[in-house]
Amino acid sequence: MKTFNVEEVISDFPILKRKNRGKHMVFLDNAATSQKPDSVIDAISHYYRESNSNVHRGVYELAEDAENLYHHSRKVISQYFNVSERETIFVRGATEGLNLIAHSFGVAHLKKGDEVIITEMEHHANIVPWQIVCEKVGANILVCPTLPDGSLDREWISGNISKEKVKLISLTAISNTLGTINPIAEIIFEAKKYGKTVVIDGAQSVPHERTDFSKLGCDFFTFSGHKVFGPMGIGVVLGKEKLLNDMSPYQGGGDMIDQVSFDGTTFARAPQKFEAGTPNVAGAIGLGKAIEYISQFSMGDISRHEHKLYEIAKNGLSEINGFLEHGTTKNKAAVLSFTIEGIHSHDLASFLDAQGIAIRTGHHCCQPLMKFLGVDATARASFAMYNTEEDSERLVEAVKKAVSILR
Ligand code: PMP
Repeated sequence: MKTFNVEEVISDFPILKRKNRGKHMVFLDNAATSQKPDSVIDAISHYYRESNSNVHRGVYELAEDAENLYHHSRKVISQYFNVSERETIFVRGATEGLNLIAHSFGVAHLKKGDEVIITEMEHHANIVPWQIVCEKVGANILVCPTLPDGSLDREWISGNISKEKVKLISLTAISNTLGTINPIAEIIFEAKKYGKTVVIDGAQSVPHERTDFSKLGCDFFTFSGHKVFGPMGIGVVLGKEKLLNDMSPYQGGGDMIDQVSFDGTTFARAPQKFEAGTPNVAGAIGLGKAIEYISQFSMGDISRHEHKLYEIAKNGLSEINGFLEHGTTKNKAAVLSFTIEGIHSHDLASFLDAQGIAIRTGHHCCQPLMKFLGVDATARASFAMYNTEEDSERLVEAVKKAVSILR
């Protein structure tokens, strides 16, 4: 394993050399998407320059190259998550992953009167697919409340998970807005005691902590490649093989079939059954490289580094009158969501942009959570492995300047 050195990491990410509004760029919107290291960019470029061909179909050498790269990537990813290749499905991202799970598994296993637990801090991607499916089958959604510090109401979960009607719980491992790290291992253990299906949205956890799918014991886990230094348009669903084998496909078309006739069609085994059509081969190859990239480091080192930056930012911003952090639970990722009394988050973000600093404002695709927080938007600075102490200091300095001018 490589010793974590932020300067070395920075040199792997070419975009970090660019300026934002003519100033050295401070990129603090990593919860929305991450930047890409050379190894990922080069692999995608190399694929299109040297190996581009459709997979699964060709008998010629070029097609074999593409096929080998594509399969190698699935192997790298499945090994990283300690899961078999059969249980590793390529999708477009966490959104498509959650839709696949809700539509393929949910529709078949939920019936009228059943209940699905989600939480108040879910991203819309883990709310809307369940609403669509529940409406279709006549099931109901129960929402686990958030406590004032931004943690989940664990007592509520314990009080509801055992209920006969509850069939499934789908929750995020880490809140994209609050940074809260949910006790998913504990919740999975409890849910499994009662035989419930557990779906984990890992979109925000994969960039910050290692997941061993087999050890974790959930039924499905999904994430997006672009948040973990990989390309956009590619993500993964990990699912238990037995469940995948029993599930109907989510989409039909080429590549996912065994035999097709007008009398009926039989499907290929997982993962192909869930990968209809020409896949995002370059994306998959890029994601494999991204996973190889983070595998070089200890996730503990990355997390310690990110937390140091978070603390610097938080301590500095806390000196501002009217600063309020949303999500203050101890166990949280390096995500700093905040509002400042008297200043709209959008105005703040525009001011920071002019200083070269990229943060996100808005509802972060968590409108129900915003309602709970009693705000329409927050400003969010989210840290990644390539951020520096100077980035945090510049953020604090710029926000203080904004307050002195905008107030
Ligand atoms: N879940 C969470 C917790 C997220 O943060 C996001 C992205 N913001 C998603 C799901 C959806 O990911 P994508 O848009 O990449 O499909």
